[in-house]
Amino acid sequence: MSELHLKDALDTLKSTGVRITPQRHAILEFLIQSMTHPTADDIYKALEGKFPNMSVATVYNNLRVFREAGLVKELTYGDSSSRFDFVLGATDHYHMICEDCGTIVDFHYPGLDEVEHFAAHVTGFKVNMHRMEIYGVCPSCQGSAMKAQ
Ligand SMILES: [Zn+2]
Ligand SMILES: [Zn+2]
Repeated sequence: MSELHLKDALDTLKSTGVRITPQRHAILEFLIQSMTHPTADDIYKALEGKFPNMSVATVYNNLRVFREAGLVKELTYGDSSSRFDFVLGATDHYHMICEDCGTIVDFHYPGLDEVEHFAAHVTGFKVNMHRMEIYGVCPSCQGSAMKAQ
Protein backbone atom coordinates (compact mmCIF):
# COMPACT_ATOMS: atom_id res chain seq x y z
CA MET A 1 0.00 0.00 0.00
CA SER A 2 2.74 2.49 0.91
CA GLU A 3 4.56 1.56 -2.33
CA LEU A 4 1.52 2.76 -4.23
CA HIS A 5 1.43 6.01 -2.27
CA LEU A 6 5.09 6.58 -3.01
CA LYS A 7 4.53 6.00 -6.73
CA ASP A 8 1.55 8.39 -6.75
CA ALA A 9 3.56 10.99 -4.88
CA LEU A 10 6.51 10.72 -7.28
CA ASP A 11 4.15 10.95 -10.27
CA THR A 12 2.52 14.06 -8.80
CA LEU A 13 5.90 15.70 -8.27
CA LYS A 14 7.00 14.85 -11.81
CA SER A 15 3.79 16.31 -13.23
CA THR A 16 4.42 19.60 -11.41
CA GLY A 17 7.98 19.74 -12.75
CA VAL A 18 9.67 19.08 -9.41
CA ARG A 19 12.97 17.25 -9.72
CA ILE A 20 13.14 14.09 -7.63
CA THR A 21 16.42 14.07 -5.75
CA PRO A 22 17.51 11.15 -3.53
CA GLN A 23 16.76 13.36 -0.50
CA ARG A 24 13.24 14.14 -1.65
CA HIS A 25 12.68 10.46 -2.32
CA ALA A 26 13.88 9.53 1.17
CA ILE A 27 11.83 12.25 2.90
CA LEU A 28 8.69 11.17 1.09
CA GLU A 29 9.30 7.53 1.93
CA PHE A 30 9.79 8.43 5.59
CA LEU A 31 6.59 10.53 5.67
CA ILE A 32 4.53 7.76 4.10
CA GLN A 33 5.83 5.06 6.42
CA SER A 34 5.97 6.98 9.68
CA MET A 35 2.27 7.78 10.32
CA THR A 36 3.47 9.87 13.29
CA HIS A 37 3.10 13.37 11.80
CA PRO A 38 6.81 14.13 12.21
CA THR A 39 8.39 17.56 12.55
CA ALA A 40 11.14 18.64 10.13
CA ASP A 41 13.57 17.91 12.96
CA ASP A 42 12.26 14.34 13.39
CA ILE A 43 12.77 13.73 9.67
CA TYR A 44 16.23 15.25 9.78
CA LYS A 45 17.25 13.01 12.68
CA ALA A 46 15.90 9.92 10.96
CA LEU A 47 17.76 10.62 7.70
CA GLU A 48 20.95 12.45 8.69
CA GLY A 49 22.93 9.19 8.75
CA LYS A 50 22.03 8.61 5.12
CA PHE A 51 22.56 12.23 3.99
CA PRO A 52 25.36 13.79 6.06
CA ASN A 53 25.26 17.03 4.05
CA MET A 54 21.56 17.60 4.64
CA SER A 55 20.41 20.28 7.11
CA VAL A 56 17.10 20.80 8.90
CA ALA A 57 16.55 23.78 6.61
CA THR A 58 16.89 21.52 3.55
CA VAL A 59 14.33 19.15 5.00
CA TYR A 60 12.00 22.05 5.68
CA ASN A 61 12.41 23.44 2.16
CA ASN A 62 11.62 20.06 0.67
CA LEU A 63 8.54 19.78 2.87
CA ARG A 64 7.40 23.14 1.52
CA VAL A 65 7.80 21.85 -2.03
CA PHE A 66 5.67 18.82 -1.11
CA ARG A 67 3.07 21.05 0.51
CA GLU A 68 2.81 23.21 -2.58
CA ALA A 69 2.36 20.07 -4.70
CA GLY A 70 -0.51 19.00 -2.39
CA LEU A 71 1.30 15.95 -1.02
CA VAL A 72 1.53 17.00 2.60
CA LYS A 73 -0.36 19.19 5.01
CA GLU A 74 1.48 21.33 7.50
CA LEU A 75 -0.05 21.37 10.96
CA THR A 76 1.13 24.51 12.72
CA TYR A 77 0.87 24.93 16.47
CA GLY A 78 1.87 28.55 16.92
CA ASP A 79 5.56 27.76 17.36
CA SER A 80 8.33 26.43 15.14
CA SER A 81 7.42 22.78 15.59
CA SER A 82 5.10 22.31 12.62
CA ARG A 83 4.16 18.71 11.97
CA PHE A 84 3.75 17.21 8.54
CA ASP A 85 1.05 14.84 7.44
CA PHE A 86 1.20 12.92 4.16
CA VAL A 87 -2.27 13.45 2.68
CA LEU A 88 -2.10 12.30 -0.94
CA GLY A 89 -4.77 9.65 -1.48
CA ALA A 90 -5.74 9.85 2.18
CA THR A 91 -9.37 10.37 3.06
CA ASP A 92 -10.22 13.31 5.28
CA HIS A 93 -9.35 12.66 8.84
CA TYR A 94 -9.09 14.36 12.17
CA HIS A 95 -6.46 14.28 14.86
CA MET A 96 -6.31 13.03 18.43
CA ILE A 97 -3.36 14.60 20.26
CA CYS A 98 -1.71 13.42 23.47
CA GLU A 99 -1.10 16.31 25.84
CA ASP A 100 1.69 14.42 27.60
CA CYS A 101 3.91 13.17 24.77
CA GLY A 102 2.59 15.04 21.71
CA THR A 103 1.69 11.90 19.75
CA ILE A 104 -0.82 12.61 16.99
CA VAL A 105 -3.13 9.80 15.90
CA ASP A 106 -5.46 9.94 12.90
CA PHE A 107 -9.08 9.00 13.19
CA HIS A 108 -11.75 8.98 10.55
CA TYR A 109 -15.07 10.66 11.02
CA PRO A 110 -17.57 11.91 8.45
CA GLY A 111 -16.43 15.36 7.23
CA LEU A 112 -18.05 18.17 9.19
CA ASP A 113 -19.34 19.90 6.04
CA GLU A 114 -22.48 21.08 7.83
CA VAL A 115 -20.38 23.05 10.29
CA GLU A 116 -18.54 24.70 7.38
CA HIS A 117 -21.84 25.66 5.70
CA PHE A 118 -23.22 26.97 8.96
CA ALA A 119 -20.07 28.98 9.73
CA ALA A 120 -20.05 30.47 6.22
CA HIS A 121 -23.71 31.35 6.55
CA VAL A 122 -23.50 33.11 9.91
CA THR A 123 -20.21 34.94 9.27
CA GLY A 124 -20.33 35.66 5.53
CA PHE A 125 -16.86 34.10 5.13
CA LYS A 126 -15.82 32.00 2.18
CA VAL A 127 -14.66 28.79 3.85
CA ASN A 128 -11.42 27.14 2.70
CA MET A 129 -10.86 24.42 5.25
CA HIS A 130 -11.35 23.43 8.83
CA ARG A 131 -9.30 21.53 11.32
CA MET A 132 -10.50 19.57 14.32
CA GLU A 133 -8.25 18.30 17.05
CA ILE A 134 -9.14 16.42 20.17
CA TYR A 135 -6.76 16.49 23.12
CA GLY A 136 -6.27 13.85 25.76
CA VAL A 137 -3.84 11.27 27.12
CA CYS A 138 -2.71 8.39 24.88
CA PRO A 139 -2.85 4.75 26.04
CA SER A 140 0.89 4.48 26.67
CA CYS A 141 0.96 7.69 28.74
CA GLN A 142 -2.05 6.43 30.69
CA GLY A 143 -0.01 3.30 31.37
CA SER A 144 3.06 5.17 32.58
CA ALA A 145 0.93 7.38 34.84
CA MET A 146 -0.47 4.25 36.50
CA LYS A 147 3.04 2.81 37.03
CA ALA A 148 4.22 6.03 38.67
CA GLN A 149 1.54 5.86 41.34
ZN1 LIG B 1 1.17 10.15 25.20
ZN1 LIG C 1 -3.11 13.00 10.11
